[in-house]
Amino acid sequence: MSELKNKRIITVATTGAWPTKENTPNVPLQPEEIAEEVYNCWKEGAAIAHIHVRDDADRPAMEFEKFAKTVELIRAKKDCDIILNLTTSGGVGLSEDDRIRPFYELKPEMASYDCGSMNWQHTTVFENTPAFLEKLGALMREVGVKPEIEVFDPGMIYNARHYLKKGTLTSPPHFQFCMGVAGGIAASTKNLVFMHDCLKEVASDATWSAFGIGARAMEILYTSVAMGGNVRVGMEDNVLYKKGVIAESNMVFVARAKRIIEEFGAEAATPDEARQILGLR
Ligand code: ZN
Repeated sequence: MSELKNKRIITVATTGAWPTKENTPNVPLQPEEIAEEVYNCWKEGAAIAHIHVRDDADRPAMEFEKFAKTVELIRAKKDCDIILNLTTSGGVGLSEDDRIRPFYELKPEMASYDCGSMNWQHTTVFENTPAFLEKLGALMREVGVKPEIEVFDPGMIYNARHYLKKGTLTSPPHFQFCMGVAGGIAASTKNLVFMHDCLKEVASDATWSAFGIGARAMEILYTSVAMGGNVRVGMEDNVLYKKGVIAESNMVFVARAKRIIEEFGAEAATPDEARQILGLR
């Protein structure tokens, strides 16, 4: 275990719900592209792939067939042991059944669990009702999928405490601090330190990861590494590699995160090391 202390898990979120080919021609949107990108990101040091899919018109979707194809293509790459983490949001306004079916049937090792509702980017409500969170937690337990508890503000961390106490979520939990989304907490060092303090109060045994979208992504990346956390990178959160420069691929984000982790004096966890850290089956 002591060697694991110095390991940091890199999650890559290659696609997300929002970037389009107009935003960047380099974002992978269909199963073949996503699977190839995930494989190449694994080669660069990513231990977890957070997966979204799109419909045939490249719009955000929770189409089961697209998930099934993507997962099949990744699993067909026999040397690739990356951990799969399927989204359960897929966008906003999608049906509960559609949000549940991919993880329930495809049984990835992880799936996202968005621990509260929020006003999303000044446009709509990202709805995660109490009843849905109960159901989601129960079904993830049933099929042995570990929730990645996504929190967009400190209130969602305290919301998770309720589900941990009830047994809907089990310990040790894993959290993802999603920062800089309009409607949630802003991405800053001060806020990350505060989110971390809240988490320690709620679940001292929790593992955590963080990312910031937009201009302060690098601040959150560096701070997370410095605080002993894990990191998430990829086009779901940023299409720019740096100001004014569109990233040529998701691999360049993974490679940079790995360099930063190593320059700090830590190491990027392999998928199997990440499994040990997260207590995956
Ligand atoms: Zn996502």
